Amino acid sequence: ETIQVSELAKLMGVKVGELIKKSLQMGMPVTANQSIDADTAAILADEFGYQVEKAPIEEEILLQYIPPSPEELKPRPPVVTVMGHVDHGKTTLLDAIRKTDVASKEAGGITQHIGAYTVKLEDGRIITFIDTPGHEAFTSMRARGAQVTDIVILVVAADDGVMEQTKEAIEHARAAKVPIVVAINKIDKPDANPERVKSQLAELGLVPEEWGGNTLVANISAKKRIGIEELLELVLLQAEMLDLKAAYDRPARGRIIESKLDKGRGPVATVIVQEGTLREGDVFVAGLTYGRVRAMFDSYGNRIKTATPSIPVEILGFEDVPQAGDDFIVVDEEEKARKIAEYRQRKAREAEAAKEVKISLEKLFEKLKEGEIKELNIVLKADTQGTLEALKSSLSKLSTDKVKINIIRAGIGAISESDVMLASASNAIVVGFNVKPTPNAKNVAKEEKVEIKFYDVIYQLIDDIKKAMVGLLEPKL
Ligand code: GDP
Repeated sequence: ETIQVSELAKLMGVKVGELIKKSLQMGMPVTANQSIDADTAAILADEFGYQVEKAPIEEEILLQYIPPSPEELKPRPPVVTVMGHVDHGKTTLLDAIRKTDVASKEAGGITQHIGAYTVKLEDGRIITFIDTPGHEAFTSMRARGAQVTDIVILVVAADDGVMEQTKEAIEHARAAKVPIVVAINKIDKPDANPERVKSQLAELGLVPEEWGGNTLVANISAKKRIGIEELLELVLLQAEMLDLKAAYDRPARGRIIESKLDKGRGPVATVIVQEGTLREGDVFVAGLTYGRVRAMFDSYGNRIKTATPSIPVEILGFEDVPQAGDDFIVVDEEEKARKIAEYRQRKAREAEAAKEVKISLEKLFEKLKEGEIKELNIVLKADTQGTLEALKSSLSKLSTDKVKINIIRAGIGAISESDVMLASASNAIVVGFNVKPTPNAKNVAKEEKVEIKFYDVIYQLIDDIKKAMVGLLEPKL
């Protein structure tokens, strides 16, 4: 916990200038806007006859979380994201799935775009779909620490086969440890070749069940609405294997998946409930803001009073617009909610001021040492296939019992924005060998605070990683 020098001065009723002067005399100079730790504050305060007491972090007291006991857990519907190469039919598939919804027919077929929707099958089972297809939204959510997707549907056009973004989607799903159900689309086309797609996927490690693997594959036509029910059955089968459960009977927690400022209604956001039951009137914290649920709507635009796990709802009643990926936590008092939001805003300002690198080799290994993580994720880019293969094999050999090296992407060419986003989402570092980042990638790396390391000599790269693994890397100044 830290405090700003100017705030410390205010609390003690002394001028900032005086405090700074004293700090100079003591040989530990500080500036007015500097955030100092409790120990430094204590030494300075002592000079003015004050004692510093370390208060526990507000958020920790206010948001005490008791994980549910196994008895509280009940099955919940799966949340699905559709990914795949551009033009392979993601949007068409999401539309086709929507049209299979029996509840929508009851609701008169009118559906609202709120960022996610639920589909009810004939037998009453429910699946929730995130309405923004592609791995960009998926990854930017993950970069913000949010994972709402349980299953990825990978759409591959049967005429086109596996393409660049198909591979990227697989990497993203794998990095997130989310299982993939494959939808081979456009089987109505004369030049469709589903068998070729299957062998391409098998080469990438997605071996269909019929070939002895464990990847579920459906042949579909999103446009002609062939095979959609079968695909949904496979999704539910995959969900069953995941044994998805959540507690229902407790205050709600969830994630913001979309938000906007509506001219008439003010800040509006869609939340996917992940635990508990959300009720109208509930007070909540969401990212840097807070509020009270004034009204809630489901994906048909119906006003509803409660929402249970995996159900997306549009909510009115935010003080400010939250961001996609923000957490959403119901608390018992408005005062508490406001305090937490203010605390988080202060923290965010401090972090912004400190411009910390979120992910660096040194940081990762601090975490490794503390046992917080057991894997080192690397996004590797090189100039030629030859060096790439050489680097891949030497890096993989560095894995030990304690630390696993995971190369989550290995590619040729400049470091792209997509590389940086994948790294950010997966707590990875980006390593470039004889390659540079694109200007865009550079900016995103800065924003996302991701470290990019450059090398042009193989042994230096290996050496750095090795050193870092035993905690010997010299801190960067
Ligand atoms: P996205 O970029 O992945 O979202 O792809 P779209 O859903 O926009 O589809 C791209 C194009 O493929 C559109 O012209 C669709 O009509 C067409 N398309 C999608 N699914 C099928 C299908 O099953 N069969 C055929 N013949 N065309 C399809």
